[in-house]
This record gives sequence, structure tokens and C-alpha cells, in this order.
Amino acid sequence: MMSEQDLNKNLSVVRSRINAACQRSGRPPNTVRLVGVTKTKPVDMVIQAINADLTDLGENYVQEFQAKYEQVAAAGYRPTWHFIGQLQTKKVKYLNNRVQWIHSLDRERVLNEIERRFERPVNCLIEVNIGEEPEKGGIAPGDLNEFALAAAARSKCVLRGLMCVPPAVDDPEDARPFFRDLTRLFREMKAFLEARDVDTSLVTELSMGMSHDFEQAIEEGATMVRVGTAIFGARL
Ligand SMILES: *Cc1c(COP(=O)(O)O)cnc(C)c1O
Repeated sequence: MMSEQDLNKNLSVVRSRINAACQRSGRPPNTVRLVGVTKTKPVDMVIQAINADLTDLGENYVQEFQAKYEQVAAAGYRPTWHFIGQLQTKKVKYLNNRVQWIHSLDRERVLNEIERRFERPVNCLIEVNIGEEPEKGGIAPGDLNEFALAAAARSKCVLRGLMCVPPAVDDPEDARPFFRDLTRLFREMKAFLEARDVDTSLVTELSMGMSHDFEQAIEEGATMVRVGTAIFGARL
């Protein structure tokens, strides 16, 4: 496991890179939320990160998340949990009362299940398959506006914005056009909703950017970045 010093150092490097990217794009530093992605990492490391003031944590797999959630809660910690992985309908119920954010809403059946299983409203981001890759989750860009309209009408899903995982590229600059596209779709979606009298005052979030491309994402308008490897080290 990574030492506490290394983890703290990684975190402070990531935070200063986030702030520098904010500065370059003329935005105040506190406008980007850092979500630390802890998938595959042990609970001890999760707790180390919380002690280093990482308040927002992201997990991908429901079963792994459940176990971690219980252990972290039993240790007395209450971070803000984000579910960022592909979501199967039958697993939605396990997230009730445990996550504050779902980043991967991408179909009507999951929306229905949130409505049925959640006792309280949860912040939802619609995942867009921005590179239109057949094997990936996320809604097709062309279906986004109608789906957003449906999501905005539900009571347990609080529509907060969009999320994407662009196609894997070696040069992070090659991810930039996808981030720019998501920002454009976001603006168009808000206009579409507003034209239909939907209150979009809470639709403020763009979750995009991971370890190797979060600076480009911030420069293109990200309000949340999901960073795993750059904080917690490689996943084995
Ligand atoms: C794993 C994962 C991340 C973090 O990836 P890193 O490259 O380790 O920063 C972010 N978002 C999603 C959806 C992920 O699955």
C-alpha cells in the first residue's frame, strides 16, 4: 500500500494542478470539485484520503462500494459518495441512502428504479456516450434532450448535469474536443429544458476529466473531476 506521505503528496499535487487549470481558464479555484476514485483500493487508504480532507469519493462497482461504505461508516466517517460506474437496474436499490451522487444515469429503466427505490432525492448526472462507442455506457448525444426532460420530471432524481468518459487516447489534448462537445451539449440541453419551462437552476455540473486529462477537462468547463490513479496509484 502507498504510504500516507505519498498519498498526501499526490493529493496536494493534484489539487495544485486543478487550481492552476482553473487559473488558466479564468475561473476561481473552488469551482471544481475533486472526486477521488477509490475503486480497487483498500479501506485504510480511503480513510487516509478522508483524513487528508478529500471529502468526495467515487466508486464503480456496487458490491465493492457496499462493503467499503459499511466499513468507512463503521469507522465513523461520512464522506460524500459518488457512484460513477455502469449501473444495472437490479443494483440500484443498494445505493439508496448511501450515495449522494449518481454520475452514470443513462436509461429510462434505471431512472424508474431510482424513483421506486430511493427514499430521498439523489443528485443525478446523465452519462453521455460522447465518442458514440458501441461498447460503452451512456446515452447517445441525439437522445439526450428528451431523456433529460424525462429525468427532470421525476421526484427522486435531481437532475444536476452531465458526465462523460471520452474514448481512450494517448495524448490528453485529443480528449479536449470531446470535453468541448459535452459542454456544448450541456448548454443546448439547458436551453431545451428552459424552453419547456423546466427549472434548470440546479443543472450546473459537468463531470469530466480523469487522471491523465483533468486539466484539459477543466479548461473546457468541468465542474467535477474524477481522479483515481494520480492520487491512489495504479490499479493492479
Ligand atoms: C476509474 C474511473 C475514473 C478514474 O480513473 P483514473 O484514470 O484512475 O483517474 C474516473 N471515472 C470513471 C468513470 C472511472 O471508471
